[in-house]
Amino acid sequence: MDTTLNRTPLLSLVTPMYNEEQGMEAFFRSTVSVLETITDRWEIICVDDGSRDATLPMLRHRHAEEPRIRYLSLSRNFGKEAALTAGLDYAAGDAVIPIDADLQDPPELIAMMVQEWRKGFKVVLATRRRRTGEGWFKRLSAKGFYRLISRVATVPIPENTGDFRLLDRQVVEVIRRLPERTRFMKGLFAWAGFSTTRLYYDRPARAAGAAKYNLQAMWRHAKDGIFSFTTLPLRISAYLGAIISMGAIAYAGYIILRTLVRGADLPGYASLITAVLFMGGIQLVSLGIIGEYIGRIYRETKQRPIYVLKEQSL
Ligand code: UDP
Ligand code: MG
Repeated sequence: MDTTLNRTPLLSLVTPMYNEEQGMEAFFRSTVSVLETITDRWEIICVDDGSRDATLPMLRHRHAEEPRIRYLSLSRNFGKEAALTAGLDYAAGDAVIPIDADLQDPPELIAMMVQEWRKGFKVVLATRRRRTGEGWFKRLSAKGFYRLISRVATVPIPENTGDFRLLDRQVVEVIRRLPERTRFMKGLFAWAGFSTTRLYYDRPARAAGAAKYNLQAMWRHAKDGIFSFTTLPLRISAYLGAIISMGAIAYAGYIILRTLVRGADLPGYASLITAVLFMGGIQLVSLGIIGEYIGRIYRETKQRPIYVLKEQSL
């Protein structure tokens, strides 16, 4: 990438959009006005993630009026992580900022991010201090998930930090070289490393439209994060197996001794059935965990593209 000193750096925003017709005007209004205060060399890459509403025609229209608003359109709904991947592939900026279309990632923060970037940081995180306007379940589950994954993952995935962050071109190039199909972007960003600083903000409620993630999608996303960034579950099942086997050996010794001393007695159905059921349960859970990894290996080996483009602006 050419980042010679004699030209002003280009700033790219990357916005995945799935059925965002309602909030789009407000989104462009506030982001463009913030961008204009920073530089006139900016672009917004909007990725239409197979929307079924007027998102795509509205993007075409916006692009015709303002060519710095560019768009990609995917052939169907591939999910936010794939849409972001597409956007990062096409963004040309020296700094790239993934940002949600619903104004939950406040554009005002962009100016501060750029300031930190100019100081030399390659990554500027935006960490959520408070989440207003999100239900208790979303807040609680997100908190639990971030806490868990920041403990168990093999790369430090920062707590309460979404995809909203500034990435230097160098970091974007690293992310683009990561070939995996299961794209847990927060994890991939963390994997890349580089000098990182952090800003804090209060996360507001969605400006318009409805959240696109239901419970099932959140659960899948959480599993992707865990299973792509740690093999701890495999180790847990191995350790559990070892502990239970040792318990079983000790118990067997005790039974043998007792039989030698006191002779055989038949009662013992309760302990027997408990042990059988417990072991069966542990085995199924362990198989399930192995299954999660094998499923992921299977998906990776198929080498399917991460997204399919249907249309794009120049
Ligand atoms: N999104 C997407 N594809 C999807 C789901 C969501 O591109 O399948 C986009 C959505 O348009 C928004 C961003 O991802 O710009 C975040 O979505 P949402 O606000 O529903 O998620 P949350 O704020 O609850 O994390
Ligand atoms: Mg949102």
